[in-house]
Amino acid sequence: MLIVPERDIAKLMTPEAAFDAVEQVFAAMASGAAYNFPVVREAIGHEDALYGFKGGFDRSSLTLGLKAGGYWPHNLEKRGLINHQSTIFLFDPDSGMVSAMVGGNLLTALRTAAASSVSIKHLARKDARVIGMVGAGHQAKFQLRAALKRGGFEKVIGWNFHPEMLPGLAEVAAEAGIPFEEVPLNGMREADVIITIASSFKPILMTDHVSPGTHIACMGTDTRGKQELDPALLAKAAVFTDEIAQSVSIGEAQHAIAAGLIRESEITQLGEVINGTHAGRASADQITLFDGTGVGLQDLAVAAAVVDLARKSGTAIEINV
Ligand code: NAD
Repeated sequence: MLIVPERDIAKLMTPEAAFDAVEQVFAAMASGAAYNFPVVREAIGHEDALYGFKGGFDRSSLTLGLKAGGYWPHNLEKRGLINHQSTIFLFDPDSGMVSAMVGGNLLTALRTAAASSVSIKHLARKDARVIGMVGAGHQAKFQLRAALKRGGFEKVIGWNFHPEMLPGLAEVAAEAGIPFEEVPLNGMREADVIITIASSFKPILMTDHVSPGTHIACMGTDTRGKQELDPALLAKAAVFTDEIAQSVSIGEAQHAIAAGLIRESEITQLGEVINGTHAGRASADQITLFDGTGVGLQDLAVAAAVVDLARKSGTAIEINV
């Protein structure tokens, strides 16, 4: 069994490797070669923690495993640890033996950022120049850094509920040598691509904040009740997702479905576009929307990639089990 501890992930994993792993697994999900198991999430009645498992199997890459972890709200204050904690376990699908244990905290941010980047590659207009960020927390910086790897963006604009957090995004833009501008929400009309990644339970981005032809990657809504977009935006857009079952239950589409504005059958898996079985964007002025809910197979895909990198670089810790 190989161990790749959290402390080694930053040295090994790159946004590019995460992008390739997530694009491949979205394709496998759409072709039926990979599937996610039902998610378990429990309030454990200790330390106010939420703990659970997300697992799956990708038959095309023979990746089997689960991510175990959750949210311990008092970690930072009591222990100086981050509140989100997760570990990924991979298993040999032939024997069922555990094959790897991988730190999952940084990988979660990288795989989430890779998902929106994959959606930008396949759904945004090729001439997209301005990227808008709604949200400026921990995930937002990873999202922006990954999205800027695509190249072609000339300006970053940002809005956040807590504007004092926006300098974090300005730093990421500066790393890429691109100007950053804080805008009001209606300033988002300038954006060709918008990433939303906020912890919100009310719509932030409304239909009149979005111009025709924009691609929106909605990444913050991953739980029942959370919401970032006006449901009318989903009715106006061509809606894509990582996994339809999650999109309609815990993703942004939950609200438009509940309001009767869209039907489940109108949502397309992004993997279909990657596989070429769906054309994706239909015209230059269509609004495309990716409802990124976060699936276990994304975690397994990036964990498998980092195990390969650790093995190649000789940094994986090997133990006999
Ligand atoms: P964070 O705590 O670091 O940042 C929270 C962000 O939400 C900040 O921008 C903050 O200003 C904003 N915010 C807080 N209260 C708000 C309110 N009432 N209205 C509007 N915005 C508000 O969190 P994070 O780690 O960056 O996570 C952001 C979101 O992304 C969370 O909802 C998280 O669950 C979600 N997430 C999704 C995935 C996925 O796969 N889709 C993965 C990881 C995290």
